[in-house]
Amino acid sequence: MPPPVRIVPLGGLGEVGMNCLAVEAGDRIAVIDCGVLFPEENLGVDVVAPDLSWLVERRDRVGGIFLTHGHEDHVGALPFLLRHVQAPVFGTRFTLAMVRGRLAAAGIDADLREVAPGEVRSAGEGAPISVEFVAVTHSIPDACALALSTPQGTLLHTGDFKIDERPVAGPPIDLARLGALGRAGVRLLLSDSTNAERPGSTLGEAAVGPALRDALGDARGRVFVATFSSNVHRLVQVVAAAAASGRRLALLGRGMVENFEIARSLGYLTEPAWMPVAPDEARRLPPRELAVLTTGSQGEPRAALGRLARGEHPDLAVSPGDTVILSSRQIPGNELAVGRLVDELCRRGAEVLWDATPPLHATGHAQADELRRMIELVRPERLVPIHGQYRQLARHAAIGRAAGLPAERCHVLSDGQILELDDDGARVLPERAPSGRVYAVRDELGASDVPHLVVQDRRLLAEAGLCIAVLAVARDTGAVVRGPDLFSVGVAGFPACEAEVRGEALRALEALGPAARTDAAEVQEALRGAVRRAFRRATGRRPSVLAVVLEL
Ligand SMILES: [Zn+2]
Repeated sequence: MPPPVRIVPLGGLGEVGMNCLAVEAGDRIAVIDCGVLFPEENLGVDVVAPDLSWLVERRDRVGGIFLTHGHEDHVGALPFLLRHVQAPVFGTRFTLAMVRGRLAAAGIDADLREVAPGEVRSAGEGAPISVEFVAVTHSIPDACALALSTPQGTLLHTGDFKIDERPVAGPPIDLARLGALGRAGVRLLLSDSTNAERPGSTLGEAAVGPALRDALGDARGRVFVATFSSNVHRLVQVVAAAAASGRRLALLGRGMVENFEIARSLGYLTEPAWMPVAPDEARRLPPRELAVLTTGSQGEPRAALGRLARGEHPDLAVSPGDTVILSSRQIPGNELAVGRLVDELCRRGAEVLWDATPPLHATGHAQADELRRMIELVRPERLVPIHGQYRQLARHAAIGRAAGLPAERCHVLSDGQILELDDDGARVLPERAPSGRVYAVRDELGASDVPHLVVQDRRLLAEAGLCIAVLAVARDTGAVVRGPDLFSVGVAGFPACEAEVRGEALRALEALGPAARTDAAEVQEALRGAVRRAFRRATGRRPSVLAVVLEL
């Protein structure tokens, strides 16, 4: 009997981002994607990576890391994985171009192996898993679905995709191959759920071009277009719209400059007219003759558009009469930051086009009708919705049922749940893989961890502030020599209840027995508890309390 195959989602099932999934067959493991999540709260954390300890514990069995495409939420956590796990990384040309610089900057010497759509690679020599790359369309070039051949049949992982049969450049989604895989039999379809809640179908990328041309042609002043710099087909369309409206092009933002260069070196931007002008030349051009491609469409304060909005950019300024186009989707969680950005740009007198009609953006993720079409094309025995918050996974499962899959064959899983597939069917195992979030700040090594407790403390401090209680006692008797002195940071209502809190603390110390009174740890705990209780009673709030006991 062929061995069972286990599907182990480590990230991306229950959140938008940090996508990472392991497939285990026999003694081999194939990893699909390893991405980051951008934090929604401002807690001094730059990126969130999935908990990869399940893979690290099994590092000798990981035979290959297979990348669907080059977006950060699919490749950004590779440095975290490759520090512990040595395995070849397989990806298409553009995907590896997005990864190479980041890994080099993190000092990681990775074994990168380029694969073209249609090719098959094995997860190690003699491994029971091999992976075929199948071209799909998405908001980045060279995106692929992965068809995994395993002892339990074919598993199809869509990666991120939309069904665009006439893309701006590059191959269309390979529906013929997906259909052929379906006819040969697919045990399990793992499919992108990001847009499962949106009815209908996505707009094709080519439809954005005319809208951009009109917007750049109609604008009187400078036009700033913010988009994801990895969305090369969008860059191509913006550049073409700039050329058609008689504008030269400038680039703002490090990511934009870097990715524009990668796109040019890979042959996506070949016309000489597409050479961008330097910032000082851009400054001298009449406003009507300039278009600017910039980063910062998600409201990131440190990105170029954020600095322009605050008037802090050294090279250019947004002035009345200028137009700003946000040609991107808002990642869930960024709505407030984007709203603030648009406010600031409007205050500078710019006309801001976002959510415009006709649309100046087309999503890269399949909507409900396309998800159903994928299921009908592949005709899988079972469906596992991936890439999305839980409600999006649940909606995708409902689409599966509507397409004729029995309810018990639509598996809505969360990170860490293990689905085992064997000759008798499939089941969720009672044991779980460790899963969760690893917080990190970017630094010269790529990233350093920020422990969970630190993040938790920061959240507590933000909610209610910090109170510090300092007490001096006599070492031999435990008698109070001075204090407790109370200090606060960010605690509302502190002065009004200071005396009451001190009184409560002194009573708690008096109530300690003679042995406890000379034990600094006991005194500290009693002090901390009393201060917390008193604050809560007096103000209804629970600041963090730090108790310091000095023995004299
Ligand atoms: Zn993507």
